[in-house]
Amino acid sequence: MQTESRKVSRRNFLKETTLAVGGASAFTLLRRASLGAAGNALGVVVLLGPPGAGKSEQSRRLTEGHSIPVISTGDLLRDHVRRGTPLGLQADSYMKGGQLVPDSLMNPILEERLSQADCERGFVLDGYPRTLAQAESLDALLTRRGLSPHIFLIEVPTERLLRLLTGRRVCPRCHRTYNIYSQPPQKEGLCDADGRPLVQRSDDKEEVIRRRLETYEKETQPVIEYYARQGRLLRVNGDQPPEKVAAEIESRLTSQ
Ligand code: ADP
Repeated sequence: MQTESRKVSRRNFLKETTLAVGGASAFTLLRRASLGAAGNALGVVVLLGPPGAGKSEQSRRLTEGHSIPVISTGDLLRDHVRRGTPLGLQADSYMKGGQLVPDSLMNPILEERLSQADCERGFVLDGYPRTLAQAESLDALLTRRGLSPHIFLIEVPTERLLRLLTGRRVCPRCHRTYNIYSQPPQKEGLCDADGRPLVQRSDDKEEVIRRRLETYEKETQPVIEYYARQGRLLRVNGDQPPEKVAAEIESRLTSQ
């Protein structure tokens, strides 16, 4: 049987080695990301905000015209669930119940994703960090590599969120999001980008939504306070049309 300290050092070893990819270490990749290499001005951007605040819409807009990926931890997890991987099977019940997936499942998935070559020139993080432990782990990962992300909080009054979430529809193929009340597709029920029938996420049902909002209050508010205390939080008004939110983010980015 492994002793606890051996388990811990093995975990650390795995953590470091999963970050080495095809000759270029994640250190190199992430360092280039911080510099906004190859003419990319974005670098690393973190989008925080309650469920329904429009993080994925803003991530999509932000990366348009910049060839850097959006890393959505919700999409990464849903992909594991769809493929029926061991991690996906474990994550599924937490997601269905509106609870956060434990860090022991979440962090390896994220680290593996960030080590891929397309993150080399920067990335936008959507839905991570969501707990204080995740924020600290992300800070450790990025500061070890000399990186300083731009951290945005998209703020939306709680009473608006329920309506935004119950009206949300997603393209199962390209993950583009719509809202039947505030941002409908051009053709009812079909994705503008690829014509696929839109679906409602299984966790966008009212009782699960309530639990997700409670989880946000309990687990993610401390993350916001953590960044705010350090003077690193950029607050954006999310209670306005998506193009205005995007313009606010862009202008804060360029004035930094
Ligand atoms: P939303 O922001 O609308 O809640 P997401 O797609 O970001 O939607 O997340 C869906 C679900 O995936 C969450 O309710 C949670 O169960 C899980 N999840 C996503 N990101 C994380 C994370 N960083 N840590 C733990 N669980 C997560």
